[in-house]
Amino acid sequence: MTDRQGLNSTEKAVLETVNTNRGISRKKIAELLRLSPGMITNVSKNLIQEKYMFEGDRISGGIGRKEILLYSNADKFRFLGLDIGGYRIRFAIADNTLKILHEDQFLVAELREAEDKVDALIQKIESFVQKAGIPMASIDAIGIGITGITDLAQKTILNIPNAPGWDRLDIVNRFGQRFHMPVFLDEGGRTMALLEKKLGGAKHITDFIAAEVGHGIAAGIYINDSILRGVNNTAGLLGHITADPNGRRCRCGNYGCLENIVTYPILQREYKKRSGRDGAIAEALQQNDETALDVCTGAGQAFGIALSNVVNLFNPSTIFIGGAMFKDLPILFEETKRTILLRGNRFSTSSLTLEHTTFLEKQGVLGALCLAQTSFIHQHL
Ligand SMILES: [Zn+2]
Repeated sequence: MTDRQGLNSTEKAVLETVNTNRGISRKKIAELLRLSPGMITNVSKNLIQEKYMFEGDRISGGIGRKEILLYSNADKFRFLGLDIGGYRIRFAIADNTLKILHEDQFLVAELREAEDKVDALIQKIESFVQKAGIPMASIDAIGIGITGITDLAQKTILNIPNAPGWDRLDIVNRFGQRFHMPVFLDEGGRTMALLEKKLGGAKHITDFIAAEVGHGIAAGIYINDSILRGVNNTAGLLGHITADPNGRRCRCGNYGCLENIVTYPILQREYKKRSGRDGAIAEALQQNDETALDVCTGAGQAFGIALSNVVNLFNPSTIFIGGAMFKDLPILFEETKRTILLRGNRFSTSSLTLEHTTFLEKQGVLGALCLAQTSFIHQHL
C-alpha cells in the first residue's frame, strides 16, 4: 500500500491538510501547520511523487503571484463505511476524497433472527461489495460507527440500546480476519463529529457538539479540539439522560430517557395518539395543524432543555444537529434553538450558534468513512 517504510508525522499532517482542504496552496499549508514553506515544498514533492496528491490549477495568489493548488489523489485509497444505527444500517464505498461510489442500506430488523450478528453483517457486506462490482482487495480500510457503546479499545460493540441482541460483538477482530484490512470502530456520534471537524462546518472550531436524532440519539463532543471519551468511553450519551423522571422505561434500563421523548417515530406516534389521525406529522404541520404544532413544540423544548444543560457544562461555540425530522419539522429546530437560548446561561450562549449538520442524511455513513480514512493515515501509512 505504501511505497516505502511509512510516512513521517509531518508528511501525515500535510496529507491530512490536503485531504481536508480540497485545493490548497503550499503557502496556506505552511501557515496552517506553522511550518516553513521550504519544508512544505520538500514534503509535498515526495507526496506527489508517491501519488498521494497532485498539482491542480494555478490560481492568483495576490500581488500578481500565481499559486498552484494541491489535491489529494482520489484513486490512491478506497474505504468502506458502515453506519449501524438502532433501526437502519448503511453501507458505502468511497474513494480517497470520500466521494461515495456505491451505497446501500437495510433495516436492523432484517438481522433479528441471525444468531451471529457479525457473521450476518459480513455476508451483507460481501454481497454489497460484489454487487458494486468492486474487488474486496481494492478496499484499504473499514470504518464503523454505531449508535451504541464500544469498549475502550474500540474493538468490541458492547451494546446498542435500540437493537436487542447486539451485545459484546467482537466486530473489529472478526472483520479483520475475514477482510484482511484495518478495521476501525467508534460510537456514531463521535464519527459524525469527526466528519464535521475534518470536512464540515467545524474545521476551524475547537469546541462543538454534533447531535443526530433518528430512531435514537447520538452525540459527539469536541473540547479543546479533541473528542471527549470519558473514562469508560461513554461520553456523549445524550439520548439516555433523564428528561422525564416519570417517563417510561427505556431499552437502556433507565426511565424517561430523552430518546423516548424526542425521536421521529415517537413524534409521529404522539401526533397520532393525540389527534386520532393517521397522517404524517410533517404534512399536518405544513397545514398548521394545532396538534402537530403542539407535539413539535413540546419535543423542541425537551431537546432544547437537554442541550442547554450540555451548553452550560461544555460551553461549545456551535451545536450541529442532524436528522430528517429537523428538516421536515422546521418548528422543531426553531423551538430547540429558542429553548437553548432561553434556558442556557446567557454567558454560555452569547456566541453560540445552532446549525444543521453539514452532510445531513449522509452524516453517519460519511462519518464512518472519515473514521476509516483518518485512522488509516495515522496508524497504517
Ligand atoms: Zn435510555
